[in-house]
Amino acid sequence: MRKQTDLDHGRRGTVQPLGLNVVAGGAGFIGSHLCRALLDRGESVLCLDNLQTARPSNLRALEGQPRFRFLRHDISQPVPADLLRMGPRITRVWNLACPASPPLYQRDPEHTMMTNVVGTNNLLRLAEAAKARFLLTSTSEVYGDPEIHPQAEDYRGHVSCTGPRACYDEGKRAAEALAFDYARARRAEVRVARIFNTYGPNMDPGDGRVVSNLICQALRGDELTVYGDGSQTRSFCYVSDMVAGLMALMEADFDGMEPVNLGNPVEMTVSELLDHVVALTGTRAPVVHRSLPVDDPRRRRPDISRAAELLGWTPRVPLSEGLKATCAWFAAELAAEPAAAGI
Ligand code: NAD
Ligand code: UDP
Repeated sequence: MRKQTDLDHGRRGTVQPLGLNVVAGGAGFIGSHLCRALLDRGESVLCLDNLQTARPSNLRALEGQPRFRFLRHDISQPVPADLLRMGPRITRVWNLACPASPPLYQRDPEHTMMTNVVGTNNLLRLAEAAKARFLLTSTSEVYGDPEIHPQAEDYRGHVSCTGPRACYDEGKRAAEALAFDYARARRAEVRVARIFNTYGPNMDPGDGRVVSNLICQALRGDELTVYGDGSQTRSFCYVSDMVAGLMALMEADFDGMEPVNLGNPVEMTVSELLDHVVALTGTRAPVVHRSLPVDDPRRRRPDISRAAELLGWTPRVPLSEGLKATCAWFAAELAAEPAAAGI
C-alpha cells in the first residue's frame, strides 16, 4: 500500500496522487474492482475499455468518482496520440482487457487473439514510452488440460493450438512471451499474473461462466446446467482476494522475470459447486446435463507457493462466504432487471 509520504504535492499545495494508472478492461468484472481499489487508496485511474463484455453499471458506479476517467478504446488499435502524450504522468499500465468467459471469447476468436497479441503489444509500447510498470493478466488456461496437478508456474502446459479455446489460451501465451521479451530487453518492467477462476459481484449474469450460470439459474428457478458428468474440477477465488494479489504483484520488488499464479487452491468438482449453490439458494430446480465443451480442462488447482513467498499473499475469503456475498449481489441485480427493462 502506498503511504501518504509517497504522494506528490501539487503546484497549488493540494495533495496530488503521484502518477496515473491506465487500466485496460477496467469496466469488466475484475477490472472494475481493481479501479475501485486503486481509487480508494488515493490513486488516479484512466480506464480504457471497448465495452465488449463490460457491464454498463460497473462503469456508472466508477464514473462519479474523482480521479477516474474513461476512454472508450479497443486495445487492438493503436494507442491514441493524446494518451501517448500523457506518458510522463503514467506510472502503471494494467492489462485486463480480454473477454474471460469461454462462450464470449469464442464468439469472435480472431478479435480475441488480436486483443491478446496486438493489444498487449500496444500497451507494452505505451508502458515503454511512459517508463511505466506493466502488468498482464494471463490465465491458468496457459496450462491447458494439465497433466501435472496442482499447476506450478514451471509447468509448460498441455494446450491445443487448433481447438476453439486456442484464441484465448494461445493468445495469452503469446502475450506472456511479448511481456517477457520487453522485460529481457529492458524496454519495460513487467509483471505477469496467471489468474485462476475468479468470481464475485460485478460478474455479468449472462456471461456463461459456471458460477454466474448456476447462481442465476437457481435464483430464477431455471434448470441448473452441468456440463459433462460434473466431475471436472476448478478452484474458485473470490474477487477481493484476486485484486489484493494483483496489487501486491504490481508493487512487488523483484525483477518480474517469472509469472505468478494467483488463485484459491481449494479445489472442487462442478457437482460440489452445484451442491453449495443449491444449499445457499434453497432452489428445487432440476439439474440437467449438457455435453462437455471441446477441450474443457479436466482439473485445475493453482500451486500458489510462489505468490506466498514473493508477495506474502494467500486468499482469505472462504467459498461459503464468497458465494453468499455473490448470491446476494446477483439477487439484487436480478430483482432490478424488470425495472431496468421498463416492465
Ligand atoms: P470481463 O470480460 O468481465 O472483463 C474484460 C473487460 O475487457 C471488459 O470490460 C471488456 O469490455 C474489455 N475488453 C475486451 N476486449 C477488449 C479490447 N480489445 N479492448 C478494450 N477492452 C476490451 O473479464 P474478467 O473476468 O474481468 O477478466 C479480466 C482479465 O482477467 C482478462 O484479461 C482475463 O483473461 C483474465 N482472467 C480472468 C479470469 C476469471 O476467472 N475471471 C481467469 C483467468 C484470467
Ligand atoms: N460449466 C458447467 N455449467 C455451466 C457453465 C460451465 O458445468 O453452466 C463447467 C464448464 O464446462 C467447466 C467449468 O464449469 O468445466 C468451469 O467453466 P467456466 O466457463 O466458468 O470456466 P473455465 O472453463 O474457463 O474454467
